[in-house]
Amino acid sequence: MPALLVTGGAGYVGSHTVMAMLEQPDFEYEIVVVDNLSNAYRAEGDKKPVALLRIEEMTGKTIQFYEVDIRDKQGLNEVFGKHDVHCVVHFAALKAVGESVEKPLEYCQANITGTCTLFEVMRDHRVYNLIYSSSCTVYGEPERLPLDEEHPTGRGISSPYGRTKYFCEEIMKDLCASDPKWKIISLRYFNPVGAHPSGRIGEDPNGIPNNLMPFIAQVAVGRLPELKVFGTDYPTIDGTGVRDYIHVVDLADGHVKALQLFHRNEFSGFCPINLGTGTGYSVYQVVAAFEAASGRRVAAARAPRRAGDLAANWAAPAAAARLLAWRAARSLRDMCADAWRWQSANPDGYRG
Ligand code: UDP
Repeated sequence: MPALLVTGGAGYVGSHTVMAMLEQPDFEYEIVVVDNLSNAYRAEGDKKPVALLRIEEMTGKTIQFYEVDIRDKQGLNEVFGKHDVHCVVHFAALKAVGESVEKPLEYCQANITGTCTLFEVMRDHRVYNLIYSSSCTVYGEPERLPLDEEHPTGRGISSPYGRTKYFCEEIMKDLCASDPKWKIISLRYFNPVGAHPSGRIGEDPNGIPNNLMPFIAQVAVGRLPELKVFGTDYPTIDGTGVRDYIHVVDLADGHVKALQLFHRNEFSGFCPINLGTGTGYSVYQVVAAFEAASGRRVAAARAPRRAGDLAANWAAPAAAARLLAWRAARSLRDMCADAWRWQSANPDGYRG
């Protein structure tokens, strides 16, 4: 059976993508997850992380799991030796923007060295199909909105994390130029939020969340006292930062559609595609939507701007519609309702 190798498949976007793949009635791949568990939880005595066990329970399908770090070439070689890998979906990375400022070398190691090691092993095993987990952060400070794939990348990126995503894209372009066998779809995510509607899998950040939606969810559930609204003087609708929030299940479906693009053989080389809704919402709009969806009050206090934050960004999603026949289908209300279902059923995340 052909295998789909998912690095970082126990994490937030990775686990939802594994779920979306396995929910396809005619899905013809074996799913092989490689994850070093740096941001995923496995209970004492279990062989697999909780997120994957829950997916197996919901779908009745089996996931192959290997606790391997992508910098471990030997470990990766063994996995590629055991499975007939046709395509890799590469999520494994460190992703905390603030932490990347403190630990730039760790971010280079994990995100760049790890990615290059994975590519070497892919090449050695003649696997050339890749879906890469990129980010709208590669666009840096927007010159125009909405952000389309032609917008320049690499200028004015405000964090080491963002630069690792940009550098990896440049490496992938060089790789594609070096050998036409490579086919790489780089999915540039906007702001993934929400959870699977089952409430069984979701975002489980380590410690205090950095991102808006999990922070709001933890205020609503009583784990944190109040939201600090970083900046209320931006030139936006109400002064707060505007982002293109996208439901993680829509995002996961984008990966399912990207995988189908390999079957249709309609492209070669490096293909960047935005995954966003095309609509931006402010912090206050998200807070209001979350309060409506949860029936809880979310205390919010004004705070100074966070260093490196943009005023606003949102996607031009036309390329995804054209190339993948994909469009985000879920509303801000759905995002909040599903985030709340996950948070209220799992107040302590997977450790609960
Ligand atoms: N934000 C906020 N308080 C928080 C976290 C985030 O006001 O505790 C704001 C942030 O300034 C930005 C938006 O929410 O305008 C989204 O932030 P997030 O960190 O989720 O995503 P990113 O900044 O990477 O787009």
